[in-house]
Amino acid sequence: MAEQNISAEQLKALQEKIKQMSPEELKEFQKKQCIFCQIIAGKVQSRKVYEDDIVVALLDINPANPGHILLMTKEHYSIMPQVPDDEIAHVFMVSKSLSNSMLRSIDAQGTNIIVANGEALMLKEQT
Ligand SMILES: [Zn+2]
Repeated sequence: MAEQNISAEQLKALQEKIKQMSPEELKEFQKKQCIFCQIIAGKVQSRKVYEDDIVVALLDINPANPGHILLMTKEHYSIMPQVPDDEIAHVFMVSKSLSNSMLRSIDAQGTNIIVANGEALMLKEQT
């Protein structure tokens, strides 16, 4: 995700605002900043390769390797420990199936399954 350049003052004000938010307000704020939530809401174009009620899988716009897929829950979670166990199980069942499809369809020699666990929004002070 692209970095947002804001002044030190703006960053301080934003950090103060975030501190005052309830957990619900914070989640809504995060969802508005989250590129993946924008994709899931259909506000940003993507190439879906799989979708069900719980997850969406997309082709990465900047693939590290052929067949690079992003698989995500439709619900926004900032970090993996927030994801309910049944959703974690579902994500891994779908990743197993996608991995199998890749091995067969593009004759891949292997697949990597990586969990991005943490804040997607990067706020940096202007220097
Ligand atoms: Zn999100």
